[in-house]
Amino acid sequence: MFDSLSDRLGGVFDRLRGRGALNEQDVRDAMREVRVALLEADVALPVARRFIDAVTEKAVGHQVLKSVTPGQQVVKIVNDELVAMLGGEEVVGLNLEARPPVVVMMVGLQGSGKTTSTAKLAKLLKEKQGKKVMMASLDVNRPAAQEQLAVLGEQTGVATLPIIKGQAPVDIATRALQSAKLQAVDVLMLDTAGRLHVDDALMAEMKAVAAISTPQEVLLVVDSLTGQDAVNVAQSFTAGVDLTGVVLTRMDGDARGGAALSMRAVTGKPIKFAGTGEKLDAIEPFHPGRVASRILGMGDVVSLVEKAAAVVEKEEAERLAERMMKGQFDMNDLRSQLRQMQNMGGLGMLAGMMPGMKKAKAAMAASGMNDKVLVHMDAIIGSMTPKERQRPELLNAKRKKRIAAGAGMEVQDVNKLLKMHQEMGRAMKQIKKMGGLKGLGALFG
Ligand code: GDP
Repeated sequence: MFDSLSDRLGGVFDRLRGRGALNEQDVRDAMREVRVALLEADVALPVARRFIDAVTEKAVGHQVLKSVTPGQQVVKIVNDELVAMLGGEEVVGLNLEARPPVVVMMVGLQGSGKTTSTAKLAKLLKEKQGKKVMMASLDVNRPAAQEQLAVLGEQTGVATLPIIKGQAPVDIATRALQSAKLQAVDVLMLDTAGRLHVDDALMAEMKAVAAISTPQEVLLVVDSLTGQDAVNVAQSFTAGVDLTGVVLTRMDGDARGGAALSMRAVTGKPIKFAGTGEKLDAIEPFHPGRVASRILGMGDVVSLVEKAAAVVEKEEAERLAERMMKGQFDMNDLRSQLRQMQNMGGLGMLAGMMPGMKKAKAAMAASGMNDKVLVHMDAIIGSMTPKERQRPELLNAKRKKRIAAGAGMEVQDVNKLLKMHQEMGRAMKQIKKMGGLKGLGALFG
């Protein structure tokens, strides 16, 4: 799904992530590439434009560019906007809160997958929600359309309205409603007629059917493979009938993504389901968040960045580095560093995220340190008095024992922590000799 769009965006983001620092121009350049990728994927122009504007405005913000991981933050913003473009985090199901029979009207062009989707949804309602469902085909244009639905009814075990040849769509709808009431049907699915193109006659028919059946749901079925055409179709239908949602079919194919990405913005209505194959159970609730992750090929990165975003800014890390160099790096500072590491998801997350921590991380790993140790060291520092935290060299054997006991640790753990603190201090002094912060960059960068 959306492979080429995914590849294109992946390339842009790899370049962004690969850079430590970003300026406004970098972001604008990247967004220009994203815009081209969206247009090539057949996203409607105004939709692409709005998307790029929204992302750019958020991404050139001071906080993002100055953050520890600007590239990651920009990718996160793109992800969030994609989710918003696809309709927000929520999965929107069918609204069946009405007096039965609740009418679900399916509309769309011929060949969009309307009849198949009608049967898929009927099956879903019957099997997953225990509803008593009836289907009726109002398609008197396409030869054998009514018979097709009858066959699907047999396959799914869902009742269909008996066919009376020569009856007009509105009359079939009226008969279907009566029959559904008589048989105490919960949900009546109306499979309306399709056309090859949207025209006035089709729209008039849809309005007439809606007027007499007062549908609770009017679902537009569109073929995701048709890209820009699907967007035009959606626009026409939106103007003609009160849609309540969209079903995107052929999401199993190699759709470029344009239809899916534009649909919400163009119709203003949620994409409720995605058709994912020819089989009658190949339909899924549409999850904007999951689709966005698939487009970006980066489900993990998002949650990772969410963690990092909650953490200290670069300034804090630099402040600590500066204190280290001045020899003022005390236990409070060390504790602050340790907590940053924990917030970021432990040692594994550390590399490259905070200036000055790369080498320290290697040293810790070499001494057998793991994420649990971070918590232990935090506990040890917590058992010290404020004065001891500022001047750990004051600690004598008796105090070390008390501190270890307070933290539920051994004296040797306390010693390890003190040694690490000392070593960090020594390393800092060397850096200072090499030319301060610049040298720091050279060593750790
Ligand atoms: P209608 O004219 O809109 O009623 O279209 P149909 O329901 O008859 O579907 C046309 C063709 O598309 C049929 O062969 C379906 O099996 C196929 N189809 C429908 N939905 C999907 C889908 O989500 N994925 C795939 N691969 N094929 C689909």
